[in-house]
Amino acid sequence: MESGSPVTRTSSYSVQRPLPSLCLQKAPPQDESSEPVNQQVSEETHSVPLPKYAPPPPPPWKFSHKVVSSTGKSLQCSQVKGSSPWISEDVVEMWDRLFFEKNGADVTVYTEDGGIFLAHSIVLVSASPIFSSQIEKHHGRKQMIYRLPIRGVPLAAASMFIRLLYSSRFDVADMEKFVLHLLLLSHVYNVSFIKKLCAQELEHGLLTIENVIDVYQLTKLCDAPRLSLMCLRLIIKDFTEVAKTEGWRVMTESDPSLEQELVEAVIDADTKKQEKLGRIEEEKVYGQLRDAMEALVHICKDGCRTIGPHDKSLEGRRSGPCKFPACKGLESLVRHFAVCRIKVPGGCVHCKRMWQLLELHSRMCQQAGTCRVPLCSHFQDKLGQQSKKDETKWKLLVNKVMTAKRKTNAFSLATVSARLEEE
Ligand SMILES: [Zn+2]
Ligand SMILES: [Zn+2]
Ligand SMILES: [Zn+2]
Repeated sequence: MESGSPVTRTSSYSVQRPLPSLCLQKAPPQDESSEPVNQQVSEETHSVPLPKYAPPPPPPWKFSHKVVSSTGKSLQCSQVKGSSPWISEDVVEMWDRLFFEKNGADVTVYTEDGGIFLAHSIVLVSASPIFSSQIEKHHGRKQMIYRLPIRGVPLAAASMFIRLLYSSRFDVADMEKFVLHLLLLSHVYNVSFIKKLCAQELEHGLLTIENVIDVYQLTKLCDAPRLSLMCLRLIIKDFTEVAKTEGWRVMTESDPSLEQELVEAVIDADTKKQEKLGRIEEEKVYGQLRDAMEALVHICKDGCRTIGPHDKSLEGRRSGPCKFPACKGLESLVRHFAVCRIKVPGGCVHCKRMWQLLELHSRMCQQAGTCRVPLCSHFQDKLGQQSKKDETKWKLLVNKVMTAKRKTNAFSLATVSARLEEE
């Protein structure tokens, strides 16, 4: 609730707040001028028998609390900020009663659907600068009762709006019906706590696929950027469903430029989503290539399962798990490469892949001279002999594989081959 609301202005509760810990606190040093008062407090303190144990601390201040309407329905919280963090329900009840009982009312509020109800000018003037200027103009005229029009909303919505100004109370069912009217009224009459309340209610359940277009249009009018963003997100997320609603149909007729704006936003969001998915997929493939490089060194240096260097025994490695996820996928390729009779680049598709993996390894290898991966030194001798374009492509690939994060997906020969073909 804002500082301008009638409820916030009452601060009687803070005066009545009990101070249970006062008699137990040691009095701080005082100056002479305040001595008589302190003495009095001190005497009072000693006249009360001190409890043996300190009483429990008072409950923490709550920043919100449930209130119950005069109709017995459970209502939303009254949230109060300022010097007093919460407010007595009795005070809220008193202001709510004043709204319903109309004692001393001096304003007739009327709506375009023929509705009329009474209100207190002092409350309206205090709560809204717009009401204030409207009612101030009336001062000095002869009529005792001022007729105040509230246009563009039904009686129930206007009444709910004015009741909120008195007591912050409302019926949940009415909020569902009139939240858009209230948002508009809060903007027109410059009552920010009701605008916040409406935005909160919409954010926490009242914003739906059915009303999102209406709310979005209203947020643009009412300067509610956060709510506007939430609407846009919902429209983008469920665009197919939103585009079937009555709100969308009416909007396309009344505001084609907004329709275009929204369609562009949806396309833009979709493009970004596809680009993100593409980046994730790309990272996955480079991660798999990195795994393949590690598995290649592991197979050529230590051997694993069915394949390894001549001078290493594979006993004990034929079964059991291998910590290199790409090892199994690479094993069959290496086995093929070892026995293939064609074996020339371009002559056999499998060997071609193997040549590419071996060259990639060579370009990444830090163990020149002692490396046991076949053809490692052969490729290193030929470094820089390819065309500038090919060299650039290899450098780019090496760079991406080196920086790729390791992914959990096992080495997939098909995807890795496809990537090698593209590079
Ligand atoms: Zn292995
Ligand atoms: Zn082959
Ligand atoms: Zn090497």
